[in-house]
Amino acid sequence: MPVDASTALEEWVRPVEDWPVPGVTFRDLTPLFARPEPFAAVIDALVDIARSAGPVDRVLGVEARGFIVGAPVALELGVGFVPVRKAGKLPHTTLSTSYALEYGEATIEMHADAVAPGDRVLVVDDVLATGGTLAATADLVREAGGEVVADLVIIELPALGGRAVVGDVPVHSLTTY
Ligand code: AMP
Repeated sequence: MPVDASTALEEWVRPVEDWPVPGVTFRDLTPLFARPEPFAAVIDALVDIARSAGPVDRVLGVEARGFIVGAPVALELGVGFVPVRKAGKLPHTTLSTSYALEYGEATIEMHADAVAPGDRVLVVDDVLATGGTLAATADLVREAGGEVVADLVIIELPALGGRAVVGDVPVHSLTTY
């Protein structure tokens, strides 16, 4: 029998207590990624939501789990995939932005020619936590002249208030914890 996305998430997202630091419950998606039918069900559910957001020119995925999720979504939609990477990983001319983490700062980069002015962009990641990563990604897209039409995540952690940080961009999640 085919698996639906909510059953897949119930069965194959593994909570890991106190990782990477005490007090955090890490939502480990590797059991889901390791199983083709549950993984496909989750990708299909994301693609259905993406289609309802209207046409897009690019899918952006944020290092690292955003690559695993974003690339199959882009292929299903028939559009290009753009990796947003941690600083120093992309070989050509980049746009770059820094944002605050709970402790310290992170810098992410995108190739400057990866998004064209006027492009409609969908941003995909595994988890929306504080929203800092998706907000910073939207800054890169805007700097390139594109528009983020929606953020798409598998898991949202509403207690961390990420939606407010993301701002005006519509956020879609498959499940919340
Ligand atoms: P944030 O910028 O705070 O929204 O963090 C988002 C990134 O951190 C995502 O790319 C996730 O991969 C990761 N992340 C944050 N919190 C968790 C968590 N509790 N479980 C799994 N991944 C998390």
